[in-house]
Amino acid sequence: MFFCTAIFLTLFSACSSPDTIPANKVVVTDSTKNKIMDTTKIVKTDAEWKKELTPEQYNILREKGTERPFTGAYWNNDQKGIYKCAACGTVLFSSDEKFDAGCGWPSFKMPFDSSTCAYTKDNSVGMVRTEVTCKKCGGHLGHVFDDGPPPTFQRFCINSGALIFVKE
Ligand SMILES: [Zn+2]
Repeated sequence: MFFCTAIFLTLFSACSSPDTIPANKVVVTDSTKNKIMDTTKIVKTDAEWKKELTPEQYNILREKGTERPFTGAYWNNDQKGIYKCAACGTVLFSSDEKFDAGCGWPSFKMPFDSSTCAYTKDNSVGMVRTEVTCKKCGGHLGHVFDDGPPPTFQRFCINSGALIFVKE
């Protein structure tokens, strides 16, 4: 599989320049790829994302928007299941790690798999925060704070609009 992808990339880069990205997705290999999760990256244009996502999903995932607290679909969802990225379907969080932080957004102690999330320092809105994005598609999910419960003491504060819940 890796070999095929490498061949594809070689051919692709040999006959295409960055401004001739085809309409379908471009797959790029990721050096952090591991056996559990497929973390090959998905790159799409804004127009493509806009077509595939609802306006709310697009605002959160692609424009780093934040849904108002206590308004999303999952802040008070206590059913058993998994939470996937609304843009690319990567399994990001599990109900096993969800807890009620009282903040009005779905809160998790940790990701389903540490390889699925990427972290970036975010100095917007006058605060120093750590932004959490989906590693596979680059979609904005929310932020992670150091005030969570044991054992991680982390609180992944995630927008419902960035997630799709799949009941167990
Ligand atoms: Zn994603």
